[in-house]
Amino acid sequence: MQTYDVGLVPGPVSVPPELRAAYQGNYGSSDLEEEFFSLYQRCEADLGKILATSNRVAIQTGEGMIALWGALKSVLRPGDRVLAVANGVFGYGIGDMARQLAMEVEVVGFGYDDVPEPQRVREAAKRFRPRLLTAVHCETPSGTLGSLQNIGEICQEVDALFYVDFVSSGGGVEVGVDDWHIDLGLLGSQKVLSLPPDLAMVTVSEPAWSAVEEIGYVGYDALAPWRTGVDDRYLPYTHNWHAIAGLHVATRLILDEGLTAVFRRHAEVAAYCRSRLQDMGIALFPLREDICSPTVTAAQIPEGWSWSDLDRALRGRGMVVGGSYGPLADKVFRIGHMGSQANRDLVERGLDILEDVLKK
Ligand code: PLP
Repeated sequence: MQTYDVGLVPGPVSVPPELRAAYQGNYGSSDLEEEFFSLYQRCEADLGKILATSNRVAIQTGEGMIALWGALKSVLRPGDRVLAVANGVFGYGIGDMARQLAMEVEVVGFGYDDVPEPQRVREAAKRFRPRLLTAVHCETPSGTLGSLQNIGEICQEVDALFYVDFVSSGGGVEVGVDDWHIDLGLLGSQKVLSLPPDLAMVTVSEPAWSAVEEIGYVGYDALAPWRTGVDDRYLPYTHNWHAIAGLHVATRLILDEGLTAVFRRHAEVAAYCRSRLQDMGIALFPLREDICSPTVTAAQIPEGWSWSDLDRALRGRGMVVGGSYGPLADKVFRIGHMGSQANRDLVERGLDILEDVLKK
């Protein structure tokens, strides 16, 4: 199987050696041992600092989609109203998921190259009166980063729960779960945390726990067991001790570097990436630079190239980037500079290869 020296896929990102090492230990039983539960609790406390919340953080086995599905199913029953704020693959996709679960869904839609505009969201929320409003912080397939604070305020105004996918921004960009009134905040392990795709994390507010209790959803992805499961030393399945050990190293690395420094590193690498692409004559996909995400840069496939030719040429030089999905397939390519890949030297090497490939 081919591996690449210059890995710039926007998740799963390269897993650094110190995190890989955590997976290599022999551990005891995560069902029974105190050491596991206290490790889990340290991870939960660290995630609370990274995401600026005093809410409980459920850390489930699985990857991001488990969190997205489980949180919807845990707080809603069929027929409940969901307002999906959408400006990309995941925002529209979450609306589709809620529809598949038989919710009454309205979408406030924006262009994939844009971010949500609060006034339109407020009007829709006041008219539709949803039980849950969903939004995506960073739309990974299109490289945008929206603003959540004002949408959180709208949720307060209409008494809706606020469900936010910050899978590809959390840890690399400021996320203020408590200040922004986020009731269900969703994170995956394979983006900024730089672990394999094997953990899903959900911050759950008190109003969201009340909804969990009222709905009573049971299932593999249910949030309910995570409310007291760790305190009771009784979880719904054998947890992934290896992944939790990796998560603890990952959160420590972020907190030891310092959140301000981590956010600055992401912002600086992203700005460098954008300016190099523009110098090469490559247009960014988002409408404006101020809505570009610090964790991933989406750009238009250069004139005269197809995605498959560009991808093949880069792989031939030991570099791998991301294509895109849905309406952006074959139009957009993406450079992932989150977590371990928010590294100026790595991104510089990648952009040097890209420049060289485009000259030929
Ligand atoms: N949400 C966003 C914004 C994502 O980028 C992704 C994955 O790329 C997911 C959710 C789903 O996460 P996973 O692929 O870990 O299931």
